[in-house]
Amino acid sequence: MIIVLKHDITPSQKKETRCFLERHGYKVREIIGEQETILGAVGLIQMDIREVEILPGVDRVIPISKPYKLASRELKGEDTIVKIGGIKIGGGRIAVIAGPCAVESREQMREAAFAIRESGGVLLRGGAFKPRTSPYAFQGLGEEGLKILRETGDEFGMPVVSEIVGTEFVDLCRDYLDVLQIGTRNMQNYELLKKVGALNKPVILKRGLSATIEEWLMAAEYLMAHGSDNIILCERGIRTFETYTRNTLDISAIPVVKKLSHLPVIVDPSHGTGLRGKVSPMALAAVAAGADGLMVEVHPHPDQALSDGPQSLYPDQFEKLMRDIEAIAPVLEKELQRIPGNITVSSRESVEEGHGSEKERGKTAAGRVAFQGMRGAYSETAVHRFFGEDYEAVPSNSFGDVFKQVLIGGVPYGAVPIENSLAGTVHEVLDLLLQYPDIIVVGEQKVRIIHSLMAVEGASIEGLKKVYSHPQGLAQCSRFFEEHPFIEPQPYFDTAGAVAHIAEIQDPSLGAIAGREAGDVYHVHVLQEGIENNPRNYTRFFIIARVETPPIHTPNRAALMFTTLDKPGALFKVLQVLADNGLNMKKLESRPIQGKPWNYMFFVAVELPEKHEILDAAIGEIKSTAGDVRPLGLYYSHGD
Ligand code: PEP
Ligand code: MN
Repeated sequence: MIIVLKHDITPSQKKETRCFLERHGYKVREIIGEQETILGAVGLIQMDIREVEILPGVDRVIPISKPYKLASRELKGEDTIVKIGGIKIGGGRIAVIAGPCAVESREQMREAAFAIRESGGVLLRGGAFKPRTSPYAFQGLGEEGLKILRETGDEFGMPVVSEIVGTEFVDLCRDYLDVLQIGTRNMQNYELLKKVGALNKPVILKRGLSATIEEWLMAAEYLMAHGSDNIILCERGIRTFETYTRNTLDISAIPVVKKLSHLPVIVDPSHGTGLRGKVSPMALAAVAAGADGLMVEVHPHPDQALSDGPQSLYPDQFEKLMRDIEAIAPVLEKELQRIPGNITVSSRESVEEGHGSEKERGKTAAGRVAFQGMRGAYSETAVHRFFGEDYEAVPSNSFGDVFKQVLIGGVPYGAVPIENSLAGTVHEVLDLLLQYPDIIVVGEQKVRIIHSLMAVEGASIEGLKKVYSHPQGLAQCSRFFEEHPFIEPQPYFDTAGAVAHIAEIQDPSLGAIAGREAGDVYHVHVLQEGIENNPRNYTRFFIIARVETPPIHTPNRAALMFTTLDKPGALFKVLQVLADNGLNMKKLESRPIQGKPWNYMFFVAVELPEKHEILDAAIGEIKSTAGDVRPLGLYYSHGD
């Protein structure tokens, strides 16, 4: 049964409730959710739930109807997020685990790890004990394999996973691994499940090759009942009458399990198909069907692999798969997990030559802020206004790249425009905030947009024939063009880029409109400053960072995103919660959800009350009554 505790339960009341349940033979687990704390009580004993309901501090009691209890959605509505170092699996993320079937040598693992990490894999796999169908096939390197896997993982900053095949290896695997894998053949090895569960280390539990979904969830229940909270379910194909593929990958299991259980579900398309050419299509199908991640066999030289070569991807196939996943992630509103931190292996040569030294890796990222655009862009001005001149502003190609750089840890911060006082919200940035649950807002900077007309040495306004700028820049200076009909406005993809362009051509009949900072960067002269029609032209930038980063200044604003139920008055109810809690709304904007036609999300900024708990309580209230909410961060805003 599930015992939902009252918000104001005292520690001693909680302890008494636990003792009461344990005295009646229940195993009790406390689960602290974002909105409420619950106790999960599991046991064979049937007792009248009313006896529990009347205990002080108990809000309500809900019986669980499924044979699996701790693993069920009934017990826990929110997705479980399994944390492995800085990597998160579950809850709107796609995490890709990759590596060869078996650890064969140090060189093989280093080559594999380099390629996988470069392409965006976050965990390194490799079997040290191989459960092979034939006793004459390669059985794995044993402890030596675990050692190589651990050392390679450490060198490349990747957590490692390997299969545990028997209870006698529990201590060994605990010491070497970040994640233990229970293989398909051992899914119902209950003694192993009990021992591994008791370690409370993250576990990947593969589906037995002839197991029903319920049997699979019961195996997860074994792990959980013995103490493990961090379980990742892995669909790897089941036995059917079909012989063309090694197994039949049960894609439909993904949405089924996601409904029944809060545990993350990943998919292994390598064992699922057994055929290299079928791995990527099935991997994409799995992601599209809602998988929280993948486990893919990748070998630097599959033709020489000691096991499962025919189903192992070549590194370049893996790279292509990762790019494809990245392309579909926004449609699924999901973030492709990245390894945080700033370890970058400098070159392929260093791996091939076998010396990836500490010094070559670990270029420091502190003091760097990514922005979209070229040097001299207004976003760069925002970076320097917010952080000062000592910070290095790092140009990126797109807003998506800024988010990705921050997620990877290539830079600790990014600066992205969220709204212009004339043109309105930058919707792409809102979409990215929704897509990346591990990125939050930690600061805000307003920049007045003063458009300057610039040209090369010797030019004059009268001599200009063409003036380049971003279409928005041109539109915002339309009056200038009306007054100078002999000048033709020329659209360019970027304001600072327009300045770089005229600086390169060095033709005095060409001009550009941008911020004067761009003129300084590209050494061109300002012919006239402030040519915009409306001088009240401001852009607000958000400073973004990884989710664990604190706000940069004492915050006075909170940004949230929420969706509402499809019911009359649903939006009104959310706003009512904000009003009832005295949260003053500074902005409200609706936005279609990408990939879900005619579904909308709402972006709100509210004044942050002195007591932050008020905000937390309001978020909890919205979640339990009106819809889903995502806090996007706390930041300091200088007035409106
Ligand atoms: C493996 O992942 O290496 C493996 C042996 O998988 P499975 O247990 O799914 O066959
Ligand atoms: Mn294998």
